[in-house]
Amino acid sequence: MKEHINIIICPDCDLLLPEKNPPLGYSISCPRCGKRLRKPKKDSVSKAFVLSLTGLLIYLPAILLPLMTFKSLGFSDSANVIESIVNFYQNDYYFVSLTVFLSAVALPLILLTMMFVISFNLQKKRYPSYLAPLFKTYLHLEEWAMTEVYLLGIMITIIKMADSSEIVYNAGIFCFTSLVLISLAISTAMDRNYFWRLIEYKGKPQNERAPVAAENISGVTTGREQNLTLCHTCGKVLSSHLEGQHCPCCGANIHNRIPASVSKTWALVLTSMIFIVPANIMPIMEVDFLGVPDRSTILDGIIYFFQHGSYFIGLVIFSASILVPVFKIIGLWILLLSTHPAATRYLRNKTIMYRSIAFIGRWSMLDIFVIALLTVLVDFGFFTSIHTAPAATYFCLVVATTMSAAITFDPRIMWDDCSKYQSISTLKTDTP
Ligand SMILES: [Zn+2]
Ligand SMILES: [Zn+2]
Repeated sequence: MKEHINIIICPDCDLLLPEKNPPLGYSISCPRCGKRLRKPKKDSVSKAFVLSLTGLLIYLPAILLPLMTFKSLGFSDSANVIESIVNFYQNDYYFVSLTVFLSAVALPLILLTMMFVISFNLQKKRYPSYLAPLFKTYLHLEEWAMTEVYLLGIMITIIKMADSSEIVYNAGIFCFTSLVLISLAISTAMDRNYFWRLIEYKGKPQNERAPVAAENISGVTTGREQNLTLCHTCGKVLSSHLEGQHCPCCGANIHNRIPASVSKTWALVLTSMIFIVPANIMPIMEVDFLGVPDRSTILDGIIYFFQHGSYFIGLVIFSASILVPVFKIIGLWILLLSTHPAATRYLRNKTIMYRSIAFIGRWSMLDIFVIALLTVLVDFGFFTSIHTAPAATYFCLVVATTMSAAITFDPRIMWDDCSKYQSISTLKTDTP
C-alpha cells in the first residue's frame, strides 16, 4: 500500500505540492513564486511562553518610565511613551494619537497577553475552545503592531537632538528596547503552522487527512484545478465547495479568493493617492522659537538633515516617508493591473514585490513617531516648543489605507490566468 502523503497549497500562487516536513534548520519554499511554506522551529511553544511572560513583566516599566531627558539652555524635559500620545490628543490630533496609541502601546500589550495565554495552554497540553479564535485574532492583529518602528523613531530623535541639547538616558529606554527585541523574538520563534496543527488535533498526531492525497495528483497543478482551497488563516487544505462556510479548524470564513479583492484594493489605493497630496504639501511639524512659529513639511525636514550633514538620517526619513509610500502605491498599481488575464509576465517578481509591500508598510509611520517624541521632549515653554501640524493626520491615513490595500489584495488572482505551460517552465527553471 502506498503511503498517504498530504498536500499543501501555496498561499501566494495556489500551487499544489506534497506536504513535506523539513528537518530543523531547513525550510521549504514554493518553487513557483518563492513563498516560504514551512520552516520548523525548535521548542517553538516553550520559547513563545517564556518570551511572552518576560515581555509582560517589562511592559509597564517600558511604557511608563521616562525614556530620556533633554537638557538645553538650562531647561530640561523628559518623556515617556504615554506622554507622547497624550500630547497629540491635547492638540486635537485624535486620529494621530489613536494610531500611535494602538500601534505602539495597546497592541503590544494585547499581543503579549494573547501569546502568553496561547502558549501557556499549549505548554500545559490544554486545548480549550477559545484557543483557535484567540490565535486567529492574534495573527490578524500582529500586522498592526509597530514597536520596532517606534524604537527607530526614538533613535532618530536622539540623533536629531544630540547637537542642540544634552541627552540623559533613563531606564525606560532600556526597557522599551528589550520589549521590542522580545516582540521580534516571539515572531521569529513562533512556528505558525505547528501551533495551528497542535490546536487542530489537540496535540495528538494527525489522524485526519486532506481531501486529496498527493499520489492522486500528477504534474503541475493548482488548488483551483483540483477543487481545493486553502484557509488563509490556519493553512488547512479544504474542499473548495466549502466556500462561504467556516473553517473547521480556526473558524475563519472560507473563500477561494478574497471576495472583491481587486475592487477593494483599487478603492484603497485611490484613496491613499488622494491623501498623499496633503500629507506632503501641508506642514507636518511646527517649531516655535521665541514665539515665532516655523512650519515645515516632510520634505523640509529631510532637507534640514541634509543641510546639517546628517545624510544617513535624512536618507532613512526620506525612504520611510516618501520612497516607501510611493513605492507601495506604484507597486499596488502594477499588481492590480497584473490581475488582467493578459498580464502573465514576471509573475514571480510581482509576487515578491507583493510580499515586500506587505512587509514594509509599517515603516512609513517612522516620521510620525519622531514628531510624537519631539513634541513632548522639546517643550521649553516660550523659548522653544514643537507642535504637530495637519499633514500628520493625512500621513497616518496614507499608511492605514496602503497597509489595508496590501492586506485585501489576493496575489493568487494574478496567477489564475497564467497558462499551465508557463507554470511548468517556471518550475523547471527554479527547481535545482
Ligand atoms: Zn507559490
Ligand atoms: Zn482555518
